[in-house]
Amino acid sequence: MGCDCNQGTQAQRDSSSNYERKQAICATCTEINRWVTDTPPGAPVHMLDRCLRCGCFIKPKAKIWGLHCPLNKW
Ligand code: SF4
Repeated sequence: MGCDCNQGTQAQRDSSSNYERKQAICATCTEINRWVTDTPPGAPVHMLDRCLRCGCFIKPKAKIWGLHCPLNKW
């Protein structure tokens, strides 16, 4: 799994616009693991939705500046 969550730097909050942008990308990605299994593609990300590639919870990861999508989508 290609995750950069444990990079050891102090977490900084990303801008709200970039946070929303990243979630919108994940919402349509085939690698999203929805907490509610029948959630349609593009629906807002749930707080317990995870990325199948890195295993991370998407919302908290997207909120932190400097962390990246394992497929370089953001
Ligand atoms: S972090 Fe990247 S690979 Fe994972 S669900 Fe989001 S866009 Fe897809």
